[in-house]
Amino acid sequence: MEKQRFDGLGLSPEILKAVAQLGFEEATPIQSAAIPVLLAGGDLVGQSQTGSGKTAAFSIPAIEKVDPASKAVQVLILCPTRELAEQVADEVHQLTAFKRSIHSVPIYGGASYERQLFELRKGVQIVIGTPGRIIDHLERGTLKLDQLKVAILDEADRMLDMGFRDDIQRILDATPEERQTVFFSATLSRQIKELINRYSRDPQTVAIERKDVTAPAIDQWFYEIPPRGKTQSLIRLVDFHGFRLGIIFCNTQRMVDELADALLAQGFSADRLHGGITQAQRTRVMNKFKNSEFEFLVATDVAARGIDVDDLEVVINYDLPHDPEDYVHRIGRTGRAGRKGMAATFVSGRDIYKIQYLEKFTHSRIRRGVIPTPSEVEGKRSEVLFVKVRDMLASGKFSDQTQFTDRLMEEGFQATEVCSALFSMLLGQVGTPEPSSAPKAAPLPVEIPMDEGFAQPKGFKKKPPFVPKSPAQGKPAFKTGFKPGFKKNFDQGNQGGAGTSGKPGKFSKGFKKDRGPR
Ligand code: AMP
Repeated sequence: MEKQRFDGLGLSPEILKAVAQLGFEEATPIQSAAIPVLLAGGDLVGQSQTGSGKTAAFSIPAIEKVDPASKAVQVLILCPTRELAEQVADEVHQLTAFKRSIHSVPIYGGASYERQLFELRKGVQIVIGTPGRIIDHLERGTLKLDQLKVAILDEADRMLDMGFRDDIQRILDATPEERQTVFFSATLSRQIKELINRYSRDPQTVAIERKDVTAPAIDQWFYEIPPRGKTQSLIRLVDFHGFRLGIIFCNTQRMVDELADALLAQGFSADRLHGGITQAQRTRVMNKFKNSEFEFLVATDVAARGIDVDDLEVVINYDLPHDPEDYVHRIGRTGRAGRKGMAATFVSGRDIYKIQYLEKFTHSRIRRGVIPTPSEVEGKRSEVLFVKVRDMLASGKFSDQTQFTDRLMEEGFQATEVCSALFSMLLGQVGTPEPSSAPKAAPLPVEIPMDEGFAQPKGFKKKPPFVPKSPAQGKPAFKTGFKPGFKKNFDQGNQGGAGTSGKPGKFSKGFKKDRGPR
């Protein structure tokens, strides 16, 4: 199924603005197919899963049908559960952000009648609700559907499974016959078909046909993560594996910006690509990435098309793609030219079921992974550094720096202490100390902060910074006031490196070489 640009779908400027504000770059397959049919006024049966963008597929044209001059209810969206009604209401709210005279209200059981009554009396054109509470309001006369233009049944199969058949019929019977009727359902059982036959006229069925696609033979993993823990999980995963070149995919421009900012703030060498960035800037970022001038590209699917970088170590699906084809395109960017690559996909909540779906369509196995704990990350970083130093010693490829060791030993330090200080510095446990005359400042914590939803693992203890004692003076050899390891790199690199959106570049080429294992 072809994906369309939103600006080619005949939508109002207000909707296009809202879609841009949400960060959507192009319509998903179900949106591309359903929006034109619904705008033309036809009835529709949409067969698609949650996550396909179905909510916007039916909400956008429904919003376009509303006459803002009338305060009557013109669109009704029926949902099986309160949670879904809330989600749909939230999306409708965002999509109507620039249509100020259009109001919507969610109506479901368990919430206060008063508030719902207040909103209904004010006059709302779009009602999103669960069948039971809608019936209550109809019976009390507080909700009138006699001017309804569009009736939408979201997850119709689930509503029938939950025994709402009679309620649905009573609700639809209270609406004008000439209304537009839209059914969205993952499956089309006999019961659903009966309902469709009874309540819609000549509906067009829109099902997203999936071409089976074959995923490349690379290591594929998925990680189940609470939505608010994604950034920290990403950082741990990257730190643990020591990745130095990868693309991180997000579904929206907004998410790309948020994540790129978060990574830069955590000391990563990262930049961003999305459709909201000028072409000249995109070309610049793309070229820098090809030249390995920064390590992680955060991108949307649209912007990353055409990137041809061969030796990516990892592709991370920070957001699960809407389309299995996008999944295959994304992960196909790693493991090229016979190199070993890895694809990591983050999923939250009900998205977990979509992994099986992806496996089916891509004929591949996606294994469940576990995000390493902070202490595992710490252990791995130390190990990587240790092996590097040992290899360097074995190769003999290092310059003679004995003058520093000699000077420190003359001051009374042991060679082992000198080594420990250097290891600590390289591991980022302590930064470069201020000169001893500098005023004292509080040490900064170095462990990875936790997002909500993540507990510190049992037994995880913050390591105190290593402060060698000077035997000569019997006091700390240097004052505290450490900066985290990346701060120095930040300062050195802050001369116009990565970082778009008009902000000064935060890291330069030097960063990659300078940064010790995180
Ligand atoms: P749904 O299938 O309606 O549950 O949508 C799943 C998620 O995709 C929601 O968070 C939407 O906000 C998001 N979404 C919908 N359409 C698009 C689009 N065209 N581009 C990016 N994200 C979208």
